[in-house]
Amino acid sequence: AKALGGGRFELFDVTLRERMQRRLRLEQDLREAVHNGQLWPAYQPVVDLRTGEMVAVEALLRWTHPKHGEISPVEFIPLAEESELINVIGKFVLRCAARELARLRAERGLDLNLKVNLSVRQLDDPGLVPAVRDVLATTGLPAGSLCLEITESALMRDEAAAAAVLASLRGLGVLLAIDDFGTGYSSLAQLRRLTLDTLKIDRSFITGIAESRDAAAIVTSIIAMAHAVDLTVVAEGVETAEELALLRELDCDQAQGYHLGRPAAAADLFQ
Ligand code: C2E
Ligand code: CA
Ligand code: CA
Ligand code: CA
Repeated sequence: AKALGGGRFELFDVTLRERMQRRLRLEQDLREAVHNGQLWPAYQPVVDLRTGEMVAVEALLRWTHPKHGEISPVEFIPLAEESELINVIGKFVLRCAARELARLRAERGLDLNLKVNLSVRQLDDPGLVPAVRDVLATTGLPAGSLCLEITESALMRDEAAAAAVLASLRGLGVLLAIDDFGTGYSSLAQLRRLTLDTLKIDRSFITGIAESRDAAAIVTSIIAMAHAVDLTVVAEGVETAEELALLRELDCDQAQGYHLGRPAAAADLFQ
């Protein structure tokens, strides 16, 4: 590389080294963040389109870093997924959110379901199913009010291995959702085999449905297909009243998005 005239390659080496050092530091910070209160779940409302009522909340992890401020899960979840750290973080968010929701249900009499995102890597963790069982037992959250969301693209990469773990989770009585639907390539047959409960249509399909007949036609057919195999359909990323009205017309079951409520700390959402 040096023979090619140096400068450029050396510069590349330096920035690469800097990037790797930042990643390493961030990963170290993330390991500690679980234990020092910097990681916390925000909650976004999920609304039933027939009644207009909030029927669930989705836990979305937040990291308040003492030096860098708010770091997006889009950055730190993939970092955690590179090691077993995702298992630690995944169990943390599950326990923390289940405890918080069980308390809200008991103290306020709220009949709310809880949705928690599961990284596909967590399906390889032999401690996952026991951890979910333990969280339900210790918090008293009814199994049927917990829904675990797994992204479509991740799920389909190793369908056979995923199916066995999903069956064990289902055996505990929890609900299962396929997240970001439309970004992968699953077939109706796969959706049936996996015996899921809920299908979440990815935001990229919802954006623009009010303006584009083609976009609306795609969503219409996803909803019809999901209903044909008895899945509850949730639209994510609903940002306007027009999108909401159209989804109701299209017989979508539930919706989530900035128009209905942004993710917020439990104290702010339920004050
Ligand atoms: P996701 O599960 O698809 O979550 C939806 C994302 O869309 C959230 O981003 C949410 O804040 C955002 N969102 C909701 N409504 C709207 C809207 O109307 N417009 C727009 N533009 N965005 C909207 P967030 O919180 O940044 O999370 C990003 C992703 O990080 C999540 O996507 C999920 O894949 C992952 N993630 C978050 N928390 C966890 C967690 O506890 N565990 C795991 N494994 N992944 C998580
Ligand atoms: Ca999700
Ligand atoms: Ca999603
Ligand atoms: Ca998404």
